[in-house]
Amino acid sequence: MSLASAEPMMTVNQQAERTLELLRASDALLEGHFLLSSGRHAGRYIQCARLLQYPERAAEACSMLAARIRETAAFDVVVGPAMGAVTMGYELARAMGTRGLFAERVQGGFALRRGFEIQPGERVLVAEDVVTTGKSVKEVLVMLTEMGVTDMAVASLVNRSGVDNPFADFGENGVPYFSLVPLDVPNWSADECPLCTDDSQGPAIKPGSRPGL
Ligand code: ZN
Repeated sequence: MSLASAEPMMTVNQQAERTLELLRASDALLEGHFLLSSGRHAGRYIQCARLLQYPERAAEACSMLAARIRETAAFDVVVGPAMGAVTMGYELARAMGTRGLFAERVQGGFALRRGFEIQPGERVLVAEDVVTTGKSVKEVLVMLTEMGVTDMAVASLVNRSGVDNPFADFGENGVPYFSLVPLDVPNWSADECPLCTDDSQGPAIKPGSRPGL
């Protein structure tokens, strides 16, 4: 009889490493010299949708995130801003054993459509694939607050915000935040980009194209 029949809980570092592996295996995390749609240049490219296109990888990542969340909290429903949270929120809802909804942008914020409903007493987990500024998530938090929801938290696969919790100052008490891996994406204006003068780098390319492949 094996004593190790049950998988031990992954540590935070193991979860972060595994998430990076899944992102790289999916070409969702590229290193190089990239031209962003804003015109700025960047040394990394992150597009979580590329990971989430593989259901098994999406399920694995969201299962890790759900295991982390369930250590400290329980929720009744997962909701996130479309489009970023549609696939990820659904998969996270499955892993959490809850309903999975998405909110849609309307004039001046986000709203539930399609007959989706959240009751004021429900505990709501707001999902997003990557949190950068957190702007869309905050708009969903505003929507939930206006619905009378008081028990809220945020979860994402990747934390690009540069701080531990970009929602710490939301509302009176802040909103808890869970993520699998923090990730910096260094970026510069074109005339300040150090990669442009780095002989080991080619010219900046749009992330959609596939150099050297
Ligand atoms: Zn450059």
